[in-house]
Amino acid sequence: MRRALALARPVRLLVLDVDGVLTDNAVSHDGPGPGLKRFGIQDGMGVKLCQQAGIEVAVISGLGNIQAEQRSRELGIREFHGGHLHKLPVLEQIMAAKSLDFSQVAYMGDDWLDAQIMARVGLALAPVDAQPEILRIAAWISRRPGGCGAVREAIRFILLAQGKLDRMWREWRD
Ligand SMILES: [Mg+2]
Repeated sequence: MRRALALARPVRLLVLDVDGVLTDNAVSHDGPGPGLKRFGIQDGMGVKLCQQAGIEVAVISGLGNIQAEQRSRELGIREFHGGHLHKLPVLEQIMAAKSLDFSQVAYMGDDWLDAQIMARVGLALAPVDAQPEILRIAAWISRRPGGCGAVREAIRFILLAQGKLDRMWREWRD
């Protein structure tokens, strides 16, 4: 935990996986089409707080994910990248454009597709229901599962580590 706090301090970019992180990993099909996915409203609020704190949020999905593209638009996430089974090159392009190094990047993922990128970033985050191999890579693990508050919890943790959480709450409250 203490190590994760130190790793969270320099973070300027939070990158999120979609399925199993922003969603509960389920997709409901009722005929043709991309299906229905569920996104947490509290996670969305967390994304807005993160952006307000000066930490950009990006989304990289292995699938095309039209649902996540729409949700990202609602949340003002400019860096949405869908359909990338190899996520690391996508992240490296984003980092180059923004002059960021790996120590300034946090990534939250839940499955094997996220292993390579999580091994490189400064702060690797995972929801508690991530695959066992991913939990072993993560420096920090949420108590809440993916799609059910894991992202909000991760953002709270980063804002806390950066000494921003209390001030933001006071400003919000008053
Ligand atoms: Mg996933």
